[in-house]
Parts: sequence; structure tokens; C-alpha cells
Amino acid sequence: MTATPTVKRSRPEARCPLRPDDICSLCQLDVTGPQDCGLVYLVMSDPEQRQEWGQRRHAAR
Ligand code: SF4
Repeated sequence: MTATPTVKRSRPEARCPLRPDDICSLCQLDVTGPQDCGLVYLVMSDPEQRQEWGQRRHAAR
């Protein structure tokens, strides 16, 4: 019988959709990540904000 090597796995770290270069730092109150972040929801649900966000992201490349 041979021992199976244990492979240490880590969870992927979520990136902030508003600051794609950064890992989500849970900067908003009572959030568990981008999936329930109110700020991300506000920006992405507002067509003007979303467009501006896209333009800034494009300009940063
Ligand atoms: S809590 Fe929201 S705004 Fe703050 S880093 Fe995470 S996703 Fe971005």
C-alpha cells in the first residue's frame, strides 16, 4: 500500500469587478465577496455608470 501525496488546494481569490487588478478586500459592510457587494450591484445596474466603468477599463489597457 502506498501513501497518496496530499495536495494542498487553495480557494480562488475573487477580484473586485470595479478594480480588476485588486483582490476583493471586503471593503463594503456585510459582504462576502463581489457576488453580494452592493457597490458592484449599483455600478453594474446603472447603464451610465456601467458605460463609464467600461470606458475607464478600456482606457487603462
Ligand atoms: S467589497 Fe465590493 S467594492 Fe469592495 S473590493 Fe469587494 S467587490 Fe470591490
